[in-house]
Amino acid sequence: MGYGSRTEMARLGKLGGITLDGSEIRDVSVRIPITPDLPSRMQVDGQPLDPVPGLVILLNKPLGMTCSHKEDGELVYDVLPERWRRRDPAISTIGRLDKATTGLLLLTDDGDLLHRVISPKRHVAKVYVATLARPLVGTEGDLFAAGGLVLEGEAKPLAPATLEVLSPAPDGRHRARLTVTEGRYHMVRRMFAAVGNHVEALHRERLGGLTLPDDLATGEWRLMTPEEIEQIF
Ligand code: URA
Repeated sequence: MGYGSRTEMARLGKLGGITLDGSEIRDVSVRIPITPDLPSRMQVDGQPLDPVPGLVILLNKPLGMTCSHKEDGELVYDVLPERWRRRDPAISTIGRLDKATTGLLLLTDDGDLLHRVISPKRHVAKVYVATLARPLVGTEGDLFAAGGLVLEGEAKPLAPATLEVLSPAPDGRHRARLTVTEGRYHMVRRMFAAVGNHVEALHRERLGGLTLPDDLATGEWRLMTPEEIEQIF
């Protein structure tokens, strides 16, 4: 879980730094079943144990962060505790939002869940609000709904998508809500580019049945409950 090597943890245990139900575990060879309630029973260095494997994180992604383990610059993983980068299995994003996109992003160490969400067979809806450089001409909704649009550089036509025009917004900007069921590279930006527009800002507000909560500020994250996770499907 990224706390340290076996040797380091054995040393910490001997020093009384690991407790279970209030009792010190000095012999770290003792076997303890991993259960979801372990973080409420075990303390490491005086702090509750980190979430056990099988965790799902909901992040309101800020602008400028990349969904990558490898690239330079600010990564979405930087918002999490530093030692979580050393967890095995590793925590990854469920799909990606590009650097300039904000909003609902899930991260998990649960590979099965990750594949369930991004599997093209499941058609999990992704809902974005796009702020556009130009007004909509009026035909975009029908064009997207019909499916079959081919994005530049691709051969496979797009599946149908739903457009809801939100403009004129009170601030005078042109906005639209777009629901897609695929997960192609820079998909929303490229869809609007294909109809002669330009996305100036992009925000994901929903994934399947899960909506980004209003009380989760930009850059904030929290762990999801199993019930919330099931809302996705
Ligand atoms: N479409 C995009 O263009 N960017 C995203 O981050 C997600 C969907």
